Amino acid sequence: MMRVTRITAERLSLPLEEPFVVSLGVIAAVDTVLVKIETDVGLTGYGEGCATGFVTGETADTVLAAIKLFEPAVVGQNPFAIDQIHRSMDMILTRNGSAKAAVDIALHDLMAKSVSLPLYRYLGGTRNTVETDQTIGLAEPAQMAAKAAKLVAQGYRELKIKAGADRQADKEAIRLIREAAPAALLKVDANQGWTAAEAPAILAYYAEHGVTAVEQPLPFWDIDGTAYVRSRSPIPIMVDESCFTPPDAVTIIRRQAADIINIKLMKCGGIYRALQIDAIAEAAGLPTMLGCMLETRLSIAAGAHLVAARPNFIYADLDSFNDFDDSDLVKSAFDFEIPFIRLSEAPGLGVDVNY
Ligand code: MG
Repeated sequence: MMRVTRITAERLSLPLEEPFVVSLGVIAAVDTVLVKIETDVGLTGYGEGCATGFVTGETADTVLAAIKLFEPAVVGQNPFAIDQIHRSMDMILTRNGSAKAAVDIALHDLMAKSVSLPLYRYLGGTRNTVETDQTIGLAEPAQMAAKAAKLVAQGYRELKIKAGADRQADKEAIRLIREAAPAALLKVDANQGWTAAEAPAILAYYAEHGVTAVEQPLPFWDIDGTAYVRSRSPIPIMVDESCFTPPDAVTIIRRQAADIINIKLMKCGGIYRALQIDAIAEAAGLPTMLGCMLETRLSIAAGAHLVAARPNFIYADLDSFNDFDDSDLVKSAFDFEIPFIRLSEAPGLGVDVNY
């Protein structure tokens, strides 16, 4: 039986082409952690933990420290003991989803490699192509509209528009973006920036401009407020920062606080927990989106394999890799022909890592 012999982690910092601005903060550079898990049968699995302090409460330093703490839960184990490894990690540290995701992705890479299947097939999928949107960060409304026009010209059909810092600018941005991209599917992400009192009027304005879904209108902890906003919204409401774990998904569904759940590997702890959240959502009749942080193509590939395997994901927001160059480290991951990610048929993630 295959056993893990070693887990190592390495920090990777890369400049962004331009700072990424959202209502919660500014990300100036990619600062992520790559994980390598070696086994006694010669197979190696790769994972990534990409911390976002203002969302998950983690940094690259805490991810490295957590992975060190997880070593006894992983080394000596069979990678297929995924449930037991997650339970052990949860007993060592609560939360810390990005660090757990790094371990989980590497274990999934190993499981699929050991049966010589691409990960999406290992997860039960039959298609290898995933359409992604592209996100437009906060900027002057005219600049955001110019970017929308450029992206649509490049072939994107779905745009995700950041909002939540300035109400008037948000409205102006969506009006100009709709003019610049009349046929695009538009999703808006307020990143917790509104209050329950003001959100219904903003949502009505967005409805007039054909916005398809609005993400995280209120602070993450305000589930009752989000349910109130949803009851008055002409547009489907998606939760992101309000939903990290499978029990969070149950709470949100019971309190009727969302129409769609944005699952991210870095919030929930990887593919194992993401599958649980997606199954809970599907059983309750809620579709899901797979989102990302400022991740390299390594964990973007993991996310795309998951979306390809689970039809309840109606949207993929797997766009971070377009904002920087990770090619020194990730030699190959998938083909990208805007807006489609086409996954490799190689076993596991199909990612060739120089680490
Ligand atoms: Mg979001």
